[in-house]
Amino acid sequence: MNWLSDHVRPRIQRLVGERKDTPDNLWTKCRSCDQMLFLMALEENLNVCTNCGHHHAMSVEERLNSLFDPGYQRLDMPELPADPLKFKDKKPYPARLREYQSRTGEKDAIVVASGQMGGSPVVIAAFNFAFMGGSMGRAVGEGLVRAADEALRLNASLLVIPASGGARMQEGILSLMQMPRSIIAVERMREARLPYIVLLTNPTTGGVTASFAMLGDLTLSEPDAVIGFAGRRVIEETIREQLPDDFQTAEYLQDHGMVDQVVSRLELRDRLVMLFSLLRNVPGSPATPGSGNQPAGEPDLPVMQEDEPNPSFDQV
Ligand SMILES: [Zn+2]
Repeated sequence: MNWLSDHVRPRIQRLVGERKDTPDNLWTKCRSCDQMLFLMALEENLNVCTNCGHHHAMSVEERLNSLFDPGYQRLDMPELPADPLKFKDKKPYPARLREYQSRTGEKDAIVVASGQMGGSPVVIAAFNFAFMGGSMGRAVGEGLVRAADEALRLNASLLVIPASGGARMQEGILSLMQMPRSIIAVERMREARLPYIVLLTNPTTGGVTASFAMLGDLTLSEPDAVIGFAGRRVIEETIREQLPDDFQTAEYLQDHGMVDQVVSRLELRDRLVMLFSLLRNVPGSPATPGSGNQPAGEPDLPVMQEDEPNPSFDQV
């Protein structure tokens, strides 16, 4: 025992302890402009940088809260046999699943919820990128099928919000089978003439882009989102050409006709409410007042009534 251990060390420990009591996560740095941002102000602004407008990632919970009217319900997802292929890389697939389940508090990479947006019934299926990169395996396919079924049951619109690295390799071919499966799910929406909108978020890649994510009645995207099938480097090495800087961004895809509209998160809810209202008020839609539940006809895209002004996207 001496002066150092009796007096100095406890005092240092006390000081360090006191400093830990004050939250060290009040501030965060913008990934785009390096500005220090007050975390609470950033969250209030839906994780959009108040300085440069960069859209930071947001949790599924924040996403649902920002879109739904107050009071939505999550749908229960079924338990699926965890490991059909007995897949093991650095650790067995079931152990990896359990790890992400405890880390995120979710069963898998998709959350389905039903509620209202602007008083109109909507089912939202939102990907959770924090869960194994939002990869699409059987649970995600099942979630998309359930979301479409629930929308049909409630005569509701469907909004799918992908954020995904693509197929889940641990489920091999079963993961790839979710591509046609998800297409059948959204095709049912089209047959019932109920609106189906996709909101692409950063990143939307691989098998997700190659299936339901490109089949919305309307395809919206958040600004700067990376959207593509194969990665940029793979394409460059294959075709041996330099790609433009903005290749695979939402804005590039809007210019080339694959995205209908890039919408700021701050305007997103109002825009979606308006678009769902337009799509639900077309002849033949079971949601149109007075039209009743008509049998499904040819799965054509809804057509605007001729006596209604055709809203241009520049105006909305
Ligand atoms: Zn910024």
